[in-house]
This record gives sequence, structure tokens and C-alpha cells, in this order.
Amino acid sequence: MTLTALLSDIHANWPALEEVVADARRAGAERFLCLGDIVGYGAQPLECLELVRELSPVVLMGNHEEAIIEGPYGFNPLASAAIHWTRRTLEAASARMPDVLSWIASLPVRVDLQEALLVHGSPSHPTEEYLFREDTLDYLPRQQDYSPKLTRCFRGLDRPCFVGHTHVPGVIDHALKWIAPTDCGEVYDTDGAPCFINVGSVGQPRDGDLRASYALFDGRQVRFRRVPYDVHRAAQRIFAERDLPDVLGQRLLEGW
Ligand code: ZN
Repeated sequence: MTLTALLSDIHANWPALEEVVADARRAGAERFLCLGDIVGYGAQPLECLELVRELSPVVLMGNHEEAIIEGPYGFNPLASAAIHWTRRTLEAASARMPDVLSWIASLPVRVDLQEALLVHGSPSHPTEEYLFREDTLDYLPRQQDYSPKLTRCFRGLDRPCFVGHTHVPGVIDHALKWIAPTDCGEVYDTDGAPCFINVGSVGQPRDGDLRASYALFDGRQVRFRRVPYDVHRAAQRIFAERDLPDVLGQRLLEGW
């Protein structure tokens, strides 16, 4: 199988996306797949949308794309402010990208490939549900031995499933254990078996590591990648937009 780069949660962070694409190309990636949330939070949605559209034969709808079309229902005030700003920015760019809103509205929430299933959040609720490390057995209260949510999500799954949404990279295996990239030397062998692989976030990592996160997949092995980029440049672009809350730039500098 061709080496595939899986990107999620770019969040309009152009400096991060540029570095990730360059890193993946240097590593030999021949195919790019995008798991959603190209926009939201960051200051350069147009650049990111243009490149992802050109690069990726598969682009999923994330909850932030859904919010652009339907409104930011259930979003916190920061995320909501960014959605309103992004929507206005896309509307104002109608000469540059005339069909961008209808393209966003047309994105699928789930794609079944032969070697993997792709969703933004979870197979049950593709744009909504989060699969957290805290849902796995070691993290459940009092070390319970049953996770109804994960058990439901594994039901019917017959191959690896790539997700994003939480912005924290790692694997949930069939034993409902969490495997962080550092636990497996950044390489996880799926053996084609059902598991959930979170590729982390290109544009807003939330695990304390400021570097952009994505994954490479050869059909069996997953290689987790972290890529340094100019975080200050991305934050400055957010600070420069009056209608984007400053804290959205600040959090990039802090990794949450
Ligand atoms: Zn996201």
C-alpha cells in the first residue's frame, strides 16, 4: 500500500500545516487523508482549505465544519467566536473560493477504506463523540473492567479506525487499553486488527507538546510524527485578528 499521511484538526493553522506536509513528503508519503476540522480557532482558514482540497482525495467533516454550515451549537464561547469569524471570512472570500461553503457542506462524516475506517470523532457519532484516553480501562474510576462507550464503539469494527477530535494522539486497543506514542516508540503495529488510532492535531495539540501531530500509515504500521513549526507566527496571526479571542493564540504557546 502507498504510504499515507493522516492529518486531523488543522484548525486554520497554516504554519503547522505547511511543516507537516513537508515532513510527510520527506518521509515518502504519497497520499494525504484529512479527518476533519480544517477550520476553527486559527487565523488562516482559506490557505488551509485550499491546500487540503488540492492534496487530499478524502476529507471528512469535523464538528467545526458542521458548525460553519449549521451554526456553533453546543460550542464554548471561544470556539463559537472563531466559527462566526471563520464563516464571515469564508463569505468575504467568495471571489477566491466561490464554492467553499457548498464543498464544506458536502463532506462525508465517515469513509470506509479497505484497510481502515475514517471518522472525525467516533463510529457511533462521527462528528460529536470523543474517544478519550480517560475512557480506557486504566483511567476509569476505581479501575473498572468495563467501558460501555468503548465496547459500543468496537462493536462491528473489523479493522483499524483512524480518529481525531480530542487533539491527543494515541491508540485504544481491543483490550480497551491506552497506548501513548511514547509507550510504543512512536510505532504501533495494528496487524490489521480493530483499534482506534488518534492521530492528534496538526494545528492545536492539547497534550503539552507544542509540535504539530500527525501519523503515517503503510496499511499495517502506524508511525506517530511530531513536527516543530513556528508557533509564534501562528499565534501572532490570531492576535492580529480583532474578532479572534487572544487566548486561542496563547493556548498554542502552551499546548492545551
Ligand atoms: Zn478539533
